[in-house]
Amino acid sequence: MPDELARTLLSEQQIRVRVADMAAEIDADYAGRDLLLIGVLKGAVMLTADLARALEHTNVEMDWTSVSSYGSGSTTSGVVRMLKEPDSDIAGRHVLLVEDTTDSGLTLAWLLENLRARGAASVEICTLLRKPELALVEVAVRYVGFDIPPEFVVGYGLDYAQRYRTLPYIAVLAPHVYATS
Ligand code: 5GP
Ligand code: MG
Repeated sequence: MPDELARTLLSEQQIRVRVADMAAEIDADYAGRDLLLIGVLKGAVMLTADLARALEHTNVEMDWTSVSSYGSGSTTSGVVRMLKEPDSDIAGRHVLLVEDTTDSGLTLAWLLENLRARGAASVEICTLLRKPELALVEVAVRYVGFDIPPEFVVGYGLDYAQRYRTLPYIAVLAPHVYATS
């Protein structure tokens, strides 16, 4: 494991099992319906791709959005800007927004409102990780992979300065990396 990483939080196997479980749940909930997965770039790329391939009984399309939160360092301000609009016309669609992690909930709350305002038939949220201790707003998240402690994590799509996204597992960033940044 790289020196900047303190420990593994979720192994590749744990992620694989949980993603398969979530996919089975989503499959059952949307069976026979068309589903538009909208992954939030770049962190949700791995989860979105793995979910999409695991859904067997649902007609799935994949789309992407990208947002940026104004704010300093790792704190979210709640002021969100959409850097990439989804390509799809969302009106009348069943949308499942796929996110890597939610801390304060501000980014997801904003995205949920944005997609609803486009006239989606339904919008639900799937997040791989959630840090309940950092929640500032209540967001109804239908599918949660793992509730985790309030630590900064990388891997399986999540980055630190664009690094570590391609790790197949999720690890906690070492404290000395925070201290120097
Ligand atoms: P929120 O708006 O919920 O406070 O912030 C959520 C966003 O912050 C996520 O979409 C993610 O991009 C980023 N973020 C929050 N926690 C982590 C983390 O532990 N690791 C990484 N790489 N990004 C995080
Ligand atoms: Mg994000």
